[in-house]
Amino acid sequence: MNRPNCVVRPPHSIALLVLTALLAAGVARPAAALEYYPGVEWPEPPVVTPAAEPGGAPSDAVVLFDGKDLSAWNGAENWKIVDGAMVVGQGEISTKQPFADCQLHIEWSAPTPATGEGQGRGNSGVFFGPYELQVLDSYKSKTYFDGQAGALYKQQPPQVNAMRPPGEWNVYDVIWTAPRFRADGSLESPAYITALHNGVLIQNHTEVKGSTFFHSPPTYWPHDSAQPIRLQDHGNPVRFRNIWIREWKPIHGKQAKPPAKRIGDKVKPIEEMQ
Ligand code: MG
Repeated sequence: MNRPNCVVRPPHSIALLVLTALLAAGVARPAAALEYYPGVEWPEPPVVTPAAEPGGAPSDAVVLFDGKDLSAWNGAENWKIVDGAMVVGQGEISTKQPFADCQLHIEWSAPTPATGEGQGRGNSGVFFGPYELQVLDSYKSKTYFDGQAGALYKQQPPQVNAMRPPGEWNVYDVIWTAPRFRADGSLESPAYITALHNGVLIQNHTEVKGSTFFHSPPTYWPHDSAQPIRLQDHGNPVRFRNIWIREWKPIHGKQAKPPAKRIGDKVKPIEEMQ
């Protein structure tokens, strides 16, 4: 009968094996290990409670439409709420509150049955100031590519067409970086847009070249970074629901100490190690 080989190891070899196993499991640190210390003091990131359901408003969001009322909007007298969704009526609507850098969640549905062609089919739009992220029924419906759903209108088509059929709900999740202007009115930094359409990336930090008009090239003119969010009336009864927004800002730290390294139990500034 065969027996497995039995290797007798000396005690120090066994100790080394145990240490190696502990290191691999991350439960031991060798005495001579290195560690890098950035030396930056960070404020603690605020706690935000996410929604219970995917797509729901997190605790720090401003709810712009929860299916019940249009009180967050100007110009909504001619828009209707039907079955918890707002339906495009006469004239655009705009948020009473302006927003600069923000994260916007908005759900929309193209009219069914689909009527019209190209730009005449389920057209609306989400505007951040004078800059439009196109809303259009682009499900098996052709138009110019920088005018289809998810396009930064007449500037940048979506990377892919992630449309759902008319009547189904589409979701845009947008990260907007507002443009900045100097005191003399010149552009300090352009706007940027990142957008997901039904969870699919369609715009990735796309630089906005300026306004998105039908009849003129992109232009910047000075304005406050905070602008109302506007929803377009293009004559088609597009529906919207579950709209919320949160302003974002990066966390800024303070370089409290020079970057350093620990070697063993000694900490030394990296500059002194050159
Ligand atoms: Mg439009």
